[in-house]
Amino acid sequence: MNKKIILFSNENECCGCSACLNICPKNAITMEVDDFGFEFPKINYDLCVNCGLCNTVCDYQDLEELNSVKMAYAGANKDIDVVKKSASGGIFSAFAKNVLTRGGTVYGVSLENVDGILVPKHKRVIVISELDKLRGSKYVQSSVGITYKEVKNDLEQGIEVLFSGTPCQIAGLKKFLRKPYERLITVEIICHGVPSSKMFQDFIRELEVKCDIKINDFKFRDKSKGQGMMSNISYKNKNGNYENKIKNGKVISYFSLFLKSLIYRENCYTCPYAQEKRSADITIGDYWGFHEEHPSAEKTSELSNTNGVSCILVNTDKGIHFMNQCDNDLILMPSELSKIAKHNEQLSHPSRLDEKRDILINLYNRDGYEGIEKYYKENYKLDRLKQNIINLIPKKTRRISQKMLSVFRRN
Ligand SMILES: Cc1cc2nc3c(=O)[nH]c(=O)nc-3n(C[C@H](O)[C@H](O)[C@H](O)COP(=O)(O)OP(=O)(O)OC[C@H]3O[C@@H](n4cnc5c(N)ncnc54)[C@H](O)[C@@H]3O)c2cc1C
Repeated sequence: MNKKIILFSNENECCGCSACLNICPKNAITMEVDDFGFEFPKINYDLCVNCGLCNTVCDYQDLEELNSVKMAYAGANKDIDVVKKSASGGIFSAFAKNVLTRGGTVYGVSLENVDGILVPKHKRVIVISELDKLRGSKYVQSSVGITYKEVKNDLEQGIEVLFSGTPCQIAGLKKFLRKPYERLITVEIICHGVPSSKMFQDFIRELEVKCDIKINDFKFRDKSKGQGMMSNISYKNKNGNYENKIKNGKVISYFSLFLKSLIYRENCYTCPYAQEKRSADITIGDYWGFHEEHPSAEKTSELSNTNGVSCILVNTDKGIHFMNQCDNDLILMPSELSKIAKHNEQLSHPSRLDEKRDILINLYNRDGYEGIEKYYKENYKLDRLKQNIINLIPKKTRRISQKMLSVFRRN
């Protein structure tokens, strides 16, 4: 009798990209939630025929060679309304529009309201009017579902495809496809780690119970009151009216602990893709430290007036060609990988594992999200106070002091 196939021997060896689920010819693999809320593939051995394809598409355990960065830019979308709706400079939207206009398809992450539960999942979009759903960062692991199969289907029909996601999802897709496709362009976000979808949903539920509301949407980074980490919570109140509340994300337990890298999937802390070499054709992220690295941009560049500046790393010849097709919609300024990486440590190494992560994840297992909320309230009082005080300082004063600080650092 053949030995049973093993997908991973410890949880650190699986990033949950779903390549194995997509390749299985017998649909014998499903994603199952573990005790801590993270999703892992599980084989139904009654259906498994031991073909071993699942093992061959695991990039996480057998890394393909990554790409060296060829070009680096600071950039933003020329359409200010798009920038305002995006997490940083609205680069993804310019890319997506370009592909959709040519009749292609775009895959990205949407926060779907499924029977009252907010579910982050990859979605296929074919018209520009649907792009809104994919805009903005959802700081939680998305469910890839069977979108790799859909991508393959599109490509086999000669349709141009843009697939966006975390670096591990891009690597998973490429390994699943098993051969290069000329009409596929891959775009990865710089990623410092993902919490589980279950924890995010439990956080939402906790908020609903505490405030006696029903949340129908959650935008992590809302720019209606300017740039920053402001979250927009849309909900139905107890009288049945729809309202929304904009709150500093840094005092919301889930978002704050996410930013502190304390609630990620275990393998994120040893992520092999958190480095200078990249998986996708193009990498996009926030250009933290833009004004520090490009001080003259303050006076000369249109970028200084936008509501967010992105960094763009172009990693393949296909990526260079694609950027040329999109540059009509973008404001671009040449930059350097070293300048960008200085402020974005995920381009050098994974997020560091802090001992508080174990405490939090075990509390979650024992007491549910309530345990996390309680820990956050008790242990981050000063942090919250600081954030609340910062929030009281007018935006203009904050920006001036940030500029002074960056001049001070340069000297
Ligand atoms: C979990 C996560 C961690 C991140 N960490 C960093 C970081 O450490 N440093 C940094 O510079 N930038 C990080 N980013 C990227 C940043 O927040 C912006 O998403 C990026 O700059 C693109 O912005 P945009 O304005 O061009 O497009 P937007 O419209 O804001 O972004 C949309 C794009 O993000 C993708 N996306 C959204 N949510 C997810 C998700 N859950 N999983 C996979 N893809 C998603 C969509 O598919 C789409 O491609 C992170 C994003 C996520 C989702």
